[in-house]
Amino acid sequence: MTDSDLDNLFLRIVAREIPADIVAETERVIAIRDINPQAPTHVLVIPKTRYRNAAELAAKDPDLLAELIRVASEIAGQEGIADSGYRLLFNTNSDAGQTIFHVHLHLLGGEPMGGLTG
Ligand code: 5GP
Repeated sequence: MTDSDLDNLFLRIVAREIPADIVAETERVIAIRDINPQAPTHVLVIPKTRYRNAAELAAKDPDLLAELIRVASEIAGQEGIADSGYRLLFNTNSDAGQTIFHVHLHLLGGEPMGGLTG
């Protein structure tokens, strides 16, 4: 798959062209369960407008960045993991393992996750 095919994946999910398990949606954001979950709760919170990574999003639309975090926190509440704890992370560029260059916030939780390096 090319970079732009992978970018299109999330836009195609937004357009309902590709199925996904949608857990929340606002005018500007969609949240879906990750297809390959790394924790009991693993949700991706995705802006409907494409920014390549978190740095570009923060520079160009900080309100939208804040909305991603707010929506992720609300989902943590819905999933019953707000008090036990959860992790929010952005993989940024290839050394971090970013594979889809349309920014997305990972929400992970539902079990103890240990230290930052796992
Ligand atoms: P990244 O590695 O770019 O930070 O995260 C991309 C995430 O997207 C991965 O956790 C991967 O499992 C998930 N993913 C890839 N393709 C699909 C898909 O078609 N549907 C869903 N729901 N998640 C996907």
